[in-house]
Amino acid sequence: MTSHADLKPIRNILIVGGGTAGWLVAGVLASRYPRRGDDGISVTLVESRQQPPIGVGEGTWPTLRTTLKQIGVAETDFLRTCDASFKQGSQFVKWVDGSDSDTYYHPFTLPVGYEERNLAPYWLENPRDQSFADSLCFQTSVCRQGLAPKQITTPEYTGLANYAYHLDAGKFGPFLRDHCIEKLGVKHVYDEIIRIESTESGDISYLATQSGEALAADLFIDCSGFSSLLIGRHFGVPFLSKKDTLFIDKAWAVQIPYATDEAAIGSMTVATAQSSGWVWDIGLSTRRGVGYVFSSSYVSDEGALEELKSYLSARGDLSPALSFRKININTGYRQEFWTRNCVAVGLSAGFIEPLEASAIVVIELSAKSIANLLPGCRGGMQQAARLFNDTFRYRWERIVDFLKLHYVLSRRTDSRFWIDNRARESIPDSLRNYLDFWRDHCPWHEDFSHREEVFSAASYQYILYGMGFQTYPASWLLNDRDRALVREKMNETANYAKALSASLPSNRQLLSKVRRYGLQKI
Ligand SMILES: Cc1cc2nc3c(=O)[nH]c(=O)nc-3n(C[C@H](O)[C@H](O)[C@H](O)COP(=O)(O)OP(=O)(O)OC[C@H]3O[C@@H](n4cnc5c(N)ncnc54)[C@H](O)[C@@H]3O)c2cc1C
Repeated sequence: MTSHADLKPIRNILIVGGGTAGWLVAGVLASRYPRRGDDGISVTLVESRQQPPIGVGEGTWPTLRTTLKQIGVAETDFLRTCDASFKQGSQFVKWVDGSDSDTYYHPFTLPVGYEERNLAPYWLENPRDQSFADSLCFQTSVCRQGLAPKQITTPEYTGLANYAYHLDAGKFGPFLRDHCIEKLGVKHVYDEIIRIESTESGDISYLATQSGEALAADLFIDCSGFSSLLIGRHFGVPFLSKKDTLFIDKAWAVQIPYATDEAAIGSMTVATAQSSGWVWDIGLSTRRGVGYVFSSSYVSDEGALEELKSYLSARGDLSPALSFRKININTGYRQEFWTRNCVAVGLSAGFIEPLEASAIVVIELSAKSIANLLPGCRGGMQQAARLFNDTFRYRWERIVDFLKLHYVLSRRTDSRFWIDNRARESIPDSLRNYLDFWRDHCPWHEDFSHREEVFSAASYQYILYGMGFQTYPASWLLNDRDRALVREKMNETANYAKALSASLPSNRQLLSKVRRYGLQKI
C-alpha cells in the first residue's frame, strides 16, 4: 500500500564532495533536469575547504567525450583549462616476461571489422608475424609516432581515431564547478559536514555543517572520497576488500616538467611493470604525471620510492626539485551503493587500482544511471536502488576480472608479486571460467550479459592476444569467406595507418593549434 512518505517528491538533490565525482554527477543531473524556476529539480553541492579533492586521476576513457558534450562543455575550453591532451589507449611495458622488447598496446579504436564479425580466430590462424593490435588496428601506428587522433579542422568531440583524454585532475574539478554553477544553475556551498541526521524511518533528513547550517534534501549523493561519509560512516554499508585478488594498496605520485616546450606528448598512458606493481606515465599538455602503484605486502614505501626514482633516472627525469606524494589505496567496493535515500559515487563507492582508468568511467556511468533511474517520488527509490546496485555490483566484478587478467597472463617470475598474482586462490572463479572458455573461443559480445559493459570483448581481445594467450578455435567453426575477409581487413589497416601517418599532426602540434585557434564547434 502506498504511504504518505512514498508520495514525497524527489526535488532536492544534495551532493557531498567537490572532487571529480561530485562535479561530474552535478553536471550530468543538472543538465538532464534543467531548473525551471521553483518547479524543477534543485542540485546543490557541498564541499569542505579543509579536505581538498584527491588530486590524482588523470587518465580517462572515451566515454568522457560524450559526457562533456552532454553537459554542454566546449571541448576547446576543456582542453585549454585542464591542460588536457589526447589519450588513445594504453601501452603495457614489461608485463609479459619483463624483457626489453616486451611491450603491447590496448588501443581505444575497435579491431577492424569488429562491428560485423569476430576476426580474432582468423588472425590467430595466420598472424603474419604481427601483433594482434598491429594487424587489426591502425591506431598502434598512430600512437607509436606520437600523432594526434584528429586534425584542427576535425570538429569538437569527433576523431579519426577513438580517443579519451589525459587531464590535470587539480584543474578538472574547478573547471566543472564553474561550468555547473554558471551554465547549469547548480548551487554551491563551502562547508564541512559534521553530523548526519535521520528521519524515524532511517532516511537521511539533513546534514549539519560546521557553520551551523542544516542541509536538507530528498536524495543525498555521497561523493566524499575515501572518507565515505554517508554510505560508509553513517550507514555502515560493508566494504568488500579485493586486496586478495588485486594486491596494489599504495602509490607514490610525482609531476614531471617537460624538458622543453617542444617535447613530445605521448598518445597513450604508458604502464611499466615493476617488482611489486607498475608505474603510470601520462603526458598532459604542460607536464607529465607519473606514479608507482605498488603492493605494500611486497615492497616497503622506501623501496618503492627508490624504484620510481630509478624509472625517472633512466629517462633523465630525476631532479632534487621533484616532490613525491604518497597515497594509500583501499582496494574494493561497497556491498551496495544505493541505500535508502543515499547513493555513493566515486571513491566513496570503491576504488580498484588505476590500471585501465576505470574509476572516472564508473563515475560517468553512475551519474547517468542515477539520472535515468531517478524516481519522481520516494516510493520509487527502493526499486531504483535495487536496479542500480545489481548493475554496479556486476560492473565492479567485471572490472576486477579485467584488471586481474593483466596479472594472470604475465609470465614474469622475477618477484613474488608477479608469481603470487597467478596463484589459483587469488583468481576469481568468474575469470577462471572465462579463461577456460576462451581456450577454444575468442571473446565476443555475447560473452558478457550487459548491454553497456565497462570493458567490451574488444578490450579482452587486445589484452589476451597482446599478452600471448592462445585460443585454439575449432577448425569446423571457421570458414573461407572470413579467412579472405581478415586478409582484406589487415591490408586495409596497413594502408589506413600509412595514410594517417602522412596527414595527422603530432599531439604537441595539435594542442598548440587548439590553444591558438580552437577546434571547430559542432
Ligand atoms: C593513485 C591513484 C591514481 C588514480 N588514477 C586514475 C586514473 O588514471 N583514471 C581514473 O579514472 N581514476 C583514477 N583514480 C581515481 C580518481 O582519482 C577518482 O576516482 C576521482 O578523482 C574521484 O574522486 P572523488 O571525487 O570520489 O573523491 P575526492 O577527489 O577525494 O573528493 C572528495 C570530496 O569530498 C569532500 N568531503 C570529504 N569529507 C567532507 C566533509 N566532511 N564535508 C564536506 N565535504 C567533504 C572533499 O572536500 C572533496 O571535495 C586514481 C586514484 C588514485 C588513488
